[in-house]
Amino acid sequence: MVVPARGPERLGAPGVTPPVQPRLEAGFIAGLVSDYCADRDLPAPSSARIELTVLDRSHALPASYAPGDLVSASAAGFAGGSGGKLVSSRIVNDLAALRADSATAGLSISITSAYRSYASQVSTFNSWVARLGLATALQRSARPGHSEHQLGTTMDLTSPGWNGRFGNWATETAEGRWLVENGWRYGFVMSYPLGSQDVTCFSFEPWHYRWIGREAAAAWHASGLYLRPFLERYVGG
Ligand SMILES: [Zn+2]
Repeated sequence: MVVPARGPERLGAPGVTPPVQPRLEAGFIAGLVSDYCADRDLPAPSSARIELTVLDRSHALPASYAPGDLVSASAAGFAGGSGGKLVSSRIVNDLAALRADSATAGLSISITSAYRSYASQVSTFNSWVARLGLATALQRSARPGHSEHQLGTTMDLTSPGWNGRFGNWATETAEGRWLVENGWRYGFVMSYPLGSQDVTCFSFEPWHYRWIGREAAAAWHASGLYLRPFLERYVGG
């Protein structure tokens, strides 16, 4: 598999506009639509490794999908409200290492949201529509089945004193900066980094990290791609 060259900028680096996306090589999952920013409900590609599936505004998980291995994040050493959040057991070892190493660095990362059921996505999306109207809600919140949170491998993270949902957690906090630099080493990737909206079709979300495993995340880091096009290519490569 040919990995395209990447510029000196880190994708998703704080305050840095990413370089033009490298041209994608062969190896794509067959059957995905190219106009995936259109809102529709096509099945996400099946994979023995569900953490690598592609979710976007066109491709969704079925309403019936729920991970069979949800555990409390307390299994990864989180306490309080964070410890009660549900995650797939497959992320626990890496999440525990991330938590421990960030704590050693003097940082305090907490979890505001992790697994979300299909039913909870229905109510969340409807509440965004009520607040913002449909057009804006579609940019800010996934329609039911389209959220990476349904995988159980995705979390929204925060740190003490941070309240600005629409601020830049990735630049304005030590924890956010540490995750940009180090999250991938533990398998965690920011799905919707700054400047990626034309590719991901979702707004910048500096707090939203999806686990894809250390091996895939290292390949992602080397690729220079945003997560969605990387996954489309990596799974089929
Ligand atoms: Zn999120």
